[in-house]
Amino acid sequence: MTKHIFITGGVVSSLGKGLTTASIGLLLESRGLRVRIQKLDPYLNVDPGTMNPFQHGEVYVLDDGTETDLDLGHYERFTNAPMSRASNITSGRIYSEVIRKERAGEYLGETVQVIPHITDAIKQGIHALAGPDVDVVLTEIGGTVGDIESLPFVEAIRQFRLDVGPENVLYIHMTLLPYLRANGEMKTKPTQQSVGKLREIGIQPDILICRCEQPITDDLKKKISLFCNVETKAVIEEKDVDFSIYEVPLVLRDQGLDKLIAQRLHLAPKDCPIPDWERVVETLKHPTTEIEIAVVGKYIELQDSYKSIYESIAHAGIANHARVKIRRVNAEKVEKLGPETTLAGVHGILVPGGFGARGVEGKINASQWAREQRIPYFGICYGMQMAVIDVARHVAGLADADTTENNERTPHPVICLLDSQQKVVDKGGTMRLGAQPCRVLGGHARAAYGQSVVSERHRHRYEFNPAYREILAKAGLVVTGVHDGHDLAEIVEIPDHPWFVAVQYHPEFKSKPTKAHPLFAGFIRAALAHAREATTTAAAR
Ligand code: GLN
Repeated sequence: MTKHIFITGGVVSSLGKGLTTASIGLLLESRGLRVRIQKLDPYLNVDPGTMNPFQHGEVYVLDDGTETDLDLGHYERFTNAPMSRASNITSGRIYSEVIRKERAGEYLGETVQVIPHITDAIKQGIHALAGPDVDVVLTEIGGTVGDIESLPFVEAIRQFRLDVGPENVLYIHMTLLPYLRANGEMKTKPTQQSVGKLREIGIQPDILICRCEQPITDDLKKKISLFCNVETKAVIEEKDVDFSIYEVPLVLRDQGLDKLIAQRLHLAPKDCPIPDWERVVETLKHPTTEIEIAVVGKYIELQDSYKSIYESIAHAGIANHARVKIRRVNAEKVEKLGPETTLAGVHGILVPGGFGARGVEGKINASQWAREQRIPYFGICYGMQMAVIDVARHVAGLADADTTENNERTPHPVICLLDSQQKVVDKGGTMRLGAQPCRVLGGHARAAYGQSVVSERHRHRYEFNPAYREILAKAGLVVTGVHDGHDLAEIVEIPDHPWFVAVQYHPEFKSKPTKAHPLFAGFIRAALAHAREATTTAAAR
């Protein structure tokens, strides 16, 4: 029988529930348990694919092409649990499915209601992850308990325990203990009230995980335990970490959270250390050197918009024993103030994915600057397309070369929709999404991967126009990776440059703290070499 753990949140949003869920997944896996993880999101969008990154952070993409919430990125980085469309369910998807069934007459004349029809559909979505080869399903409920939106989900998980038996279900509730500086006190009332809200619906949490700035004293734990009806040892502290989010699993383990979960769910787990993870944290705490990388993007002000990019850079730093500072550069600023002002002194430049015209000229300038100053450049998706435009305009002499995404009438559509796609677009079909095989032909990419066929995830519409492949090769930009099957350009490089690699896919969705993505690792290694060279040149002067 698969066990179920539900993780809810209270008091405020952005408590780091996704990270905590991922950490629990890691701890359970390290004890030999087979884990599955999912997130239930209360918003009405059917998936987050259409949501503005300013509101919702990055859109994360799975192997099967599902566009999901960025918390699934945490799940994949922390655990080996397989992810699919079943791993992220929104209210929008539940409702549209129920309404579709109603229209098809599948409810046989019944009145269709939130309870039981919506809650049944939610429960089905939870059951879908269970199975004979799964020990524990972790289900994170997005939003905050008490929101109107999340009510059907909270109701569904209450019913779930009744359906499968109390010994198979565990409720973990995450809250915040605010610290009032003026009186030097941590306050428990918001936690009490949030637990009260859950109990009103009929859920008594088994474990409380409390975010806080200061350690929770024993007295405070006793108080929380008394008012929230939770054992003292089940009041877990999740104090703000000093160095990195990767400390969270260790902090939870040190308080025996995984043991407690196993006990409560009558699981017999092995006792397994997590040396890889400890090494990650050690390396983060004691880097041997420091470099700075510029990330040039449109949504740069918001940390979450390029979440997986920043994480992957950190992983590559760990792999190279370096602390990597990130300079977040607004592409429009590069356009206005010039690369000399905005990019001077960085040891590597990364242009991530993007859509639309705003800021593109700045991204093209960034590519040109990196190319001419021989600074390592890593272009990802839109960042690859910008590099192609840069070389077309500034080396191959193709004036006004562009992507047809921004200029349909460009004389040189170096990035465009291919003929085969045009038909699909007319029918409303759009993106190339999800994992596809890439044949790595040579260059830095081949050296980094160390293998000839790799699988990488995509999320884009436009492609490198094959009609320009030869002209651009003559200008020094060569294709070093192609789609294995169709001859689409997936990787381009400038051989006559220390490290200029740009890819049409999204390698940032496949990097882990314990195993940095080879291209990110290669990019940071090149940036370190560039930094050493810069110091030697400066010293020689
Ligand atoms: N806008 C570009 C395209 O659709 C790139 C997309 C991306 O960077 N994810 O092809």
